[in-house]
Amino acid sequence: MSAYRLLIDGESVATPDHFPVPNPATGETVGLAPLATAEHIDRAVSAAARAFKSWRTASDEDRRKACAGLAERISASSEELARLLTLEQGKPLNGLGSRFELGGAAAWAGYTASLDLPVETVQNDANGRIEIHRRPVGVVASITPWNWPLLIAVWHIVPAIRAGNTVVIKPSPLTPLSTLRMVEIMAAGLPPGVLNVVSGRDDIAPLLTTHPYVAKVVFTGSTETGRKVMAAGAATLKHLTLELGGNDAGIVLPGSDPKAMAERIFWGAFLNSGQTCAALKRLYVPDASYDAFCDTLAGFAAKVKLGNGLDEESQLGPLQNPMQFNKVAAMVEQAKSAGAKPLLGGNPAEQRKGHFYPVTLLAEAEAGMRIVDEEQFGPALPIIRYSDVEDALEQANASSYALGGSVWSSDPERAWDLASRLECGTAWVNRHGDIRPDVPFGGIKSSGIGVEFGRHGLQEYTTIQVLYR
Ligand code: NAD
Repeated sequence: MSAYRLLIDGESVATPDHFPVPNPATGETVGLAPLATAEHIDRAVSAAARAFKSWRTASDEDRRKACAGLAERISASSEELARLLTLEQGKPLNGLGSRFELGGAAAWAGYTASLDLPVETVQNDANGRIEIHRRPVGVVASITPWNWPLLIAVWHIVPAIRAGNTVVIKPSPLTPLSTLRMVEIMAAGLPPGVLNVVSGRDDIAPLLTTHPYVAKVVFTGSTETGRKVMAAGAATLKHLTLELGGNDAGIVLPGSDPKAMAERIFWGAFLNSGQTCAALKRLYVPDASYDAFCDTLAGFAAKVKLGNGLDEESQLGPLQNPMQFNKVAAMVEQAKSAGAKPLLGGNPAEQRKGHFYPVTLLAEAEAGMRIVDEEQFGPALPIIRYSDVEDALEQANASSYALGGSVWSSDPERAWDLASRLECGTAWVNRHGDIRPDVPFGGIKSSGIGVEFGRHGLQEYTTIQVLYR
C-alpha cells in the first residue's frame, strides 16, 4: 500500500500519520494520504513566502515558459493520473471522465501560460506619465473539492503562478492522492517553494485561511464552507476567489423538439454523475410537451452504462462518498413522498458494494421539494411542469444560488432573450455547463465571488500598482 507524501519547498516530506483513501466503487483502500500537522502547514506557507521573493521578480518569459512546461508535464503523465483519479474519485476513465479531466487540465494550463498582463498606459505626454501595472498578490492558498480535483487544482495553481504568486494547495480529504501526485509532477519543473502541497482532514484548512503570510485564498467548494473561508480571512484582509455551489435551472421553451435536445440536456445534468457545480439541477418543461420530453429523456438515460470507472465501457461511476449518496437518496425519497414520480431509477439497490446510485429522473417535481430547492449534487434530475414562461423564469431566479442556467428552444433568438434575464454567472442557450479557458466563469449571489479563466480570471491573482509622474 503506497503511503503518499507532502511536497514542501521542493522536498518530498513524510508525515508520521496517514489516513486511508477508499475507492468509491469497491471500498478498497487506494492509498494512504499524509496527515499534515500544524508545523507542516507553517513550513509550507513559509517556504512559499520565501520563494515569492524571487518568483515575483522572475521575467515574464520565464514564468510563461514554466507554466507551458506544467501543461507538458501533465500531458506526459495523464494516463497515470487518470487511473489514480478514477480509483479515488470513482468517475469513469472514458467519456466525460478522468481522461477528459486530464485533457482539460493540460489544455487549461497551456492556454493560461499564454496569457499576459500588459501594462496599461493612461497618459504619456509632456504633462506626465501614468501606467497601471498588475503585481502578484503573494502566497496563494488553494483549497479544492472532490468532484473535479485535478482540473480545479490546475484552475487555481496555473494562473496564480503565471501571475508571479506562489502556492500552497490543500486537496479535499476525500480525493487527495491524485493531487499529491500531480503536484509532485508539476513542481519538478518549478523553483523550490513555488508550488507546495499539504493534505489532511478538514481541520487543517483554517490553518491556511488564517495564516498571516497567506495573501489570497482561492476556494472551490460548498457555500457553507465558503462563508467560513470568508470569515477566517477577515482579520488579515485576504483576497478571495470563491467558487461555490449551484442549483442551475434549465428552461425548455414551448415548441421545442425533445429528440434534438435530450442528449445534451442529459449530459448537462448527469456529467460526473451530477457532481458538478454547474450541472443542470432542475429542468422546467412546458405543459404541452411535458410527456414527450419525459419519454425522450428517459429513453436516452436508460441506455447510459453505470459501472466501475476502470471498466472502459462505463459512462457513469459511483457517487464519490457515502455522505453524498445518503444526501441524494434522502432528497429523492422526500420528493417521492411529496408526489414526484420516478420515470427511471430512484430506488438504489441495498447492500450493493460501492456508492452506486442509479440514474434517476423525477417527473411531477415542484418547488417545495428539497431536490428542487437545494443542490442535490448527484444523478437525480427533477422535471418541473409549467404553463407560463414568466412563471418558470421567476422560479428559476428564486434560488439563492446563481452559478449557471440555460434556455432550450428551436428558436435561439427567443431563447437568447430569456437567457439574458436569468440571474446567474453564465446563461447558456441549447447547451449547459460548457466552459472554456478563454471565457470567464463564476457565480453570483450565494454561488461565489470573482471569476476564473481567461484574462479576467488571471487578473484576480494580481493587485494594481499605479506609477504616476
Ligand atoms: P466542501 O465545502 O465540503 O469542501 C471543499 C474543501 O474545503 C475541502 O478541501 C475541505 O477540506 C475544505 N474545508 C473544509 N472545512 C473548511 C474550513 N473550515 N475552511 C476552509 N476549507 C475547509 O465542498 P465539497 O463537498 O468538497 O464540494 C462540493 C461543493 O463544491 C458543491 O457545493 C459544489 O457545487 C461546489 N463546487 C463549486 C464549483 C464552482 O466552480 N463554483 C466547482 C466544483 C464544486
